[in-house]
Amino acid sequence: MLRLHRIEQVRKWRKPQKGSVGLVPTMGFLHEGHLSLVREARTANDAVIVSIFVNPTQFGQNEDLTTYPRDIERDLELLKDEGVDAVFAPSVEEMYNERFSTSIAVGAVAQPLEGATRPGHFEGVATVVAKLLNIVSPARAYFGQKDAQQLAVIRRMSKDLNFDVEIVACPTVRDSDGLAMSSRNAYLNSDERKIATVLFKALTAAKAAFDAGDTSADSLKERMRAVLAVEESAAVDYVSVADPDTMAELGLARDGALVSLAVRIGRARLIDNLVL
Ligand code: AMP
Repeated sequence: MLRLHRIEQVRKWRKPQKGSVGLVPTMGFLHEGHLSLVREARTANDAVIVSIFVNPTQFGQNEDLTTYPRDIERDLELLKDEGVDAVFAPSVEEMYNERFSTSIAVGAVAQPLEGATRPGHFEGVATVVAKLLNIVSPARAYFGQKDAQQLAVIRRMSKDLNFDVEIVACPTVRDSDGLAMSSRNAYLNSDERKIATVLFKALTAAKAAFDAGDTSADSLKERMRAVLAVEESAAVDYVSVADPDTMAELGLARDGALVSLAVRIGRARLIDNLVL
């Protein structure tokens, strides 16, 4: 497995590739969620490259950039075991030289929910993903449904800017108690880890109500808030029933609608979603 740190090394690796290349962008501290994307990429492509880059431009001033968990040696071992061909782990300076000044604003889909709570977040995400797509020129790029709005933002950007890439969405991988795997789960102590199951409980309550015939988005959101309220130390940022492509809030839930939430527990801010 090649370890690449410079953009020119990636281009040199990419150029002679005859078959399809799959790209899996990550911020590292890998778990089974990331590895499910890697496996999907491995089965569908002739070569797989994984990027590991904690992208500073997608973190807000008061967010966890400096404390974001990292373990590059462990990540490299895991990726080697998955048969990954190359890992691109650039420095911040390699990705953003001192004169860097371009930013991609994707528009309405990036405004609500995560975009409202984390101003500038999706500009940072869209810009770094555009850079990675241009550096690697993959046939396919893999993203988790866990970050549903990010997926919608990247799909929109890719269409609008004519990226010649297939954006592949992969299902959310969960622990046995339903908690969606996330690098940020490392912030939870054992009590908080138990409390964190409330996110999936709230989502499944909404889905069960929808499946039983409740199509009022207000009612579904109320049900989620009621479940979340049981845990006093879980602070709700938002609950939402939205169109999965535009992220616009819906009045009436329907098949395919995205039910999502963001909750702060201790120093972790956790997000999760289900598709109805
Ligand atoms: P991150 O390292 O958190 O930026 O995540 C890198 C990619 O892995 C993103 O496309 C995420 O949506 C995806 N991902 C993160 N957690 C999960 C999970 N539990 N299941 C599936 N995909 C995930």
